[in-house]
Amino acid sequence: MRPTKRRWLDAYHESGHAIVAAVQGIDVHRVSILPIGRTRGRCFHGLVTDPMAALVILWAGIIAEGLSGKGRVLPRRSTGSDAPAAEKLVEKMCPNGCDAERVTLHLAAIEKASALLRRNWASVVSLAEQLQTAGELDGAVVRRTLGTFGGLALGDH
Ligand SMILES: [Zn+2]
Repeated sequence: MRPTKRRWLDAYHESGHAIVAAVQGIDVHRVSILPIGRTRGRCFHGLVTDPMAALVILWAGIIAEGLSGKGRVLPRRSTGSDAPAAEKLVEKMCPNGCDAERVTLHLAAIEKASALLRRNWASVVSLAEQLQTAGELDGAVVRRTLGTFGGLALGDH
């Protein structure tokens, strides 16, 4: 059994991915903090065609950990494959760009992910608590949780 603190951070991490995907209109199939090999958790969702939306989802995991106050997030290997995936995505979005342009894209995504997480924080907390107990949840639970607290995208009031 992993330490509780690590499991809490994992629950917030995956809940962050799931809630930020769902409020951007992406269908979430399943979210899990059951370890598979070296992977401590995963959020399974439908195809994301908008690269900025995909980048926002990637950053949402580690930002949710940070916002949770459940433990020190950095320096640890908490980003897992998210940071390399985000870097790869930005290289595709900005193939001839300079480093400053790439950093600007990352920062825009981080800002958007933070805003979406803060707007939907009650849903993130609730989902993390359910995930911590169950280990794995299907997409219906994510939708029900967002329905309870009212999912808000950035343009919503
Ligand atoms: Zn992640």
